[in-house]
Amino acid sequence: MATKAKGKGTKKKTSESSAEKEENEVIADFEKHIYDLQQMLEISRSFCTTIELNPLVESILYIAMAQMRVTGAGIFVINELNDEKGYVLSDHYSGIAIDPTIEYRISVDSKLVEFFTQSNNVFTLPELKEYVPDAGKEFSMLETLSPSLVVPLILKNRLNGILVMGERIFIDGMESAYTNYERDEIQTIASLASVAVHNASLIEQASTDMMTHLKLKFFFFNILEDKLDNAFAQNEKLSILMFDIDFFKKFNDTYGHACGDYVLQHVAKIIKDSIRDEDMACRYGGEEFTVMLCNTDVEGAYLVAERIRKRIEETELVYENNKMNLTISGGISVFSVDDNPVRSARALVDQADKALYVSKANGRNRVSVADGEEIK
Ligand code: GH3
Ligand code: MG
Ligand code: MG
Repeated sequence: MATKAKGKGTKKKTSESSAEKEENEVIADFEKHIYDLQQMLEISRSFCTTIELNPLVESILYIAMAQMRVTGAGIFVINELNDEKGYVLSDHYSGIAIDPTIEYRISVDSKLVEFFTQSNNVFTLPELKEYVPDAGKEFSMLETLSPSLVVPLILKNRLNGILVMGERIFIDGMESAYTNYERDEIQTIASLASVAVHNASLIEQASTDMMTHLKLKFFFFNILEDKLDNAFAQNEKLSILMFDIDFFKKFNDTYGHACGDYVLQHVAKIIKDSIRDEDMACRYGGEEFTVMLCNTDVEGAYLVAERIRKRIEETELVYENNKMNLTISGGISVFSVDDNPVRSARALVDQADKALYVSKANGRNRVSVADGEEIK
């Protein structure tokens, strides 16, 4: 193009260089679109490969914040395990001010949800106020979060979540209001996020024991296989705890099966409350539980197991005016590249099971480690 312009009049040259400029702009625009498309593919891949809801929520928030230049974001999602259905602000919000006295919940039959489900768009707060003037307390609650944009996560007329974008980062020369291009972009991200949230909630429901809300055995093994590979590659320890309630049958026999269920729910809650978010507790079978503790050696695992055992021993349950005490026995096995390089999840869990058997044989209400040497 530059050679063509050579030797020609200034006027012509100017008009040709403006054509050249235009062409360059088209190319730059085209390249930006290709770049954005590649980014969307990357985002889609990242969403689709994250099957657990909490890491997925974190990933959605992180991507939305980076793409839209906002200082914070939060997401309302339905907790399918909750009896009271509603969109609740996930604990994984970032950079938004939360008032602990406010309930961040949007009822499924609210005006806002009805509106979001029918409209395929994103909204600023003033827009929402105009379109849904009678949104009531739910709108006031949203208002306290001061969102710069509210983004419904829609999939086939189903609302899978509501993304709230925080304050925009103002860069010199850049508009703080969202451009139409940006609105389209966040809407595309939201539609990808919506599919992923839907899939993750289905997986969560299918992999969770509805009575105790702990993970089911098949899911536990699935994740454990991956974590074991990872522990091997990173040369990290990984511990398994296996628990069995002592003389559980007597609760069923004395007070009925419903009492047994009540005990199971309490034990499950104590276990869940005694471990970190990144650990995983599972209802292994009837009254047996397993826990996976990543990057945890035998001392760490023993501490956690004893914490659980003591908390259960100290708990007094009341069922239909009957006071009940209970105890639990535990077994520990630890994967270690140097000391116990077992590569199969089942073999590692079997070791913990054998240690549990030692605890039972030695009088119950105790924790043992897999090499057979009893600690307590
Ligand atoms: P031990 O100290 O040797 O473990 O004795 P135990 O009585 O706990 O062990 P046992 O294996 O004899 O009894 C377990 C009982 O758990 C038998 C089974 O009916 C009961 N069970 C299994 N699943 C459930 C459940 O979902 N709800 C209730 N209520 N009971 C269950
Ligand atoms: Mg048992
Ligand atoms: Mg038992």
